[in-house]
Amino acid sequence: MVDCIFCGIVEGSVPSDKVYEDDSVLAFRDINPVAPVHVLIIPKKHVPSLLDAEEEPELMGKIIAAASKVAKELGLAEKGFRLVNNCGEHGMQTVYHIHFHLIGGRQLTWPPG
Ligand code: IMP
Repeated sequence: MVDCIFCGIVEGSVPSDKVYEDDSVLAFRDINPVAPVHVLIIPKKHVPSLLDAEEEPELMGKIIAAASKVAKELGLAEKGFRLVNNCGEHGMQTVYHIHFHLIGGRQLTWPPG
């Protein structure tokens, strides 16, 4: 069993509701959704946070491309959606395996709290 819950999802020891997978990226539904569509998009490689993304430009590009694909596949293209990364303490990051929240299916508000 690995220490990181999202690494556990990648290796299959933690169950998940997957919506997209390729060689380097995985997307699965958030266990505590805040909107009708709430998907987490992660690299399969353990990258702790956005502060580490500078070393992984190609991988980050693949994540953004996957977000675009998943958003369209889940019917979010017409009305739009939000792609969010929470980083560190002030960002309220709780899982230190970088992930992007793809949130949509309802009217969102701005600014966030
Ligand atoms: P953060 O606050 O940006 O780090 O977001 C972590 C997200 O991971 C939260 O929205 C949690 O609901 C979600 N989460 C935690 N554990 C699991 C899980 O096992 N499956 C799916 N989502 C999870």
